[in-house]
Amino acid sequence: MAHLSPLIRQATPVLAARGEGVYLYDEGGRAYLDFTAGIGVTSTGHCHPRVVEATRRQVATLIHGQFTTVKHKPLLTLVERLGEVLPPGLDSVFFANSGSEAVEAALRLARQATGRTNVVVFHGSFHGRTIGAASMTTSGTKFRAGFAPIMGGVTVAPFPYAYRYGWDEATAVRFALRELDYILATISAPRETAAFVIEPVLGEGGYVPAPKAFLEGLRERADAHGILLVVDEVQTGFGRTGKYWGHQHAAIRPDVIVTAKGIASGFPLSAMAASAELMSKAWPGSQGGTYGANAVACAAAIATLDVIRDENLVENSAVMGARLLEGARRIAAKHARIGDVRGLGLMVGSEFVLPDGNPDPAAAQRAQSFATERGLLLLLCGAWGQVVRMIPALVVDAKQVDEALAIWAESVRDALAQ
Ligand code: PMP
Repeated sequence: MAHLSPLIRQATPVLAARGEGVYLYDEGGRAYLDFTAGIGVTSTGHCHPRVVEATRRQVATLIHGQFTTVKHKPLLTLVERLGEVLPPGLDSVFFANSGSEAVEAALRLARQATGRTNVVVFHGSFHGRTIGAASMTTSGTKFRAGFAPIMGGVTVAPFPYAYRYGWDEATAVRFALRELDYILATISAPRETAAFVIEPVLGEGGYVPAPKAFLEGLRERADAHGILLVVDEVQTGFGRTGKYWGHQHAAIRPDVIVTAKGIASGFPLSAMAASAELMSKAWPGSQGGTYGANAVACAAAIATLDVIRDENLVENSAVMGARLLEGARRIAAKHARIGDVRGLGLMVGSEFVLPDGNPDPAAAQRAQSFATERGLLLLLCGAWGQVVRMIPALVVDAKQVDEALAIWAESVRDALAQ
């Protein structure tokens, strides 16, 4: 009998039968508060009625209109609607199916547009699992390490992860920018460096927001050297951080945005946006894909944009995120073994440490398991799995946030009593 490959490591034993809003239900009808949102994919909540209706209608009309062969209405409407929310100037949009593919697309675009080969990425970043994207991924022990030969031309620069270095933020930013200058002088010269690729909040790497001054320092260096600034908004886009785009917390203008996850409420769709001028430097026809801009996924994305706008989900993410962060900090204040709680909007992480300050993934995992038993689904992140993250759908309300925090308080107490 066939079985699910052990390559998949399931975070919980839950067998999901149905989803509604912020809840998942198992076969027996037991409700779980889903504070994973499928890693931030179900931005509008599970099975939002408007997404269900729009996709139901689309399935009966046209499922697949291969976008390198024909255009279709959902594709054209989606491009127009994205134009209303993308930063000014980034009005040329390309579609793929996953975050990894959109990262690969950006890498190809950057190489073609600049004629340069290299990229600089930041330690702790996650950009995907395809070999190119995995070569740019150092958020964990199983993505880049062990897969040699990786793609050439990738240099990993320090990310200002102040808490882990034991520094204040200003010191961490100064260190990271000086190291970057050192790298540009000695390892990846500007004339061979096509792009910096950065997440506005390290996602898989531990929910560490990139300090404003760091992002602004990257922009300055990109301008000085003709290097493109590619912002990976796969996890931080579409309101997740309390602004439409994560990079909008800083005064920067990306050259390329890569996004996926929250774009289509769970349907496979990703996008890359840049200026028409930049896109025109790439060779027409050099990018494509069988399933890119699938009509049903486009319809889901249009409905998702409607729901985000009509239900004020970006504002809700900011307000509920602040409530969640404050609550998680109140709980951590009682436990020295939670060394740091941080986040932006509805991305909140609690980092577990041993008494010597080193990562404590075992405690994080115990806290996650106790939470699952009590009906709250959570995910781990951080290089060692030492951070428990909360990432509910953007439709979450105050009562659900408080309910999750009550379960979290008990789960942490039990996990650290052992
Ligand atoms: N970039 C970031 C920032 C991500 O968080 C992820 C997924 N966790 C990816 C890229 C890759 O996306 P996918 O799994 O859809 O390939």
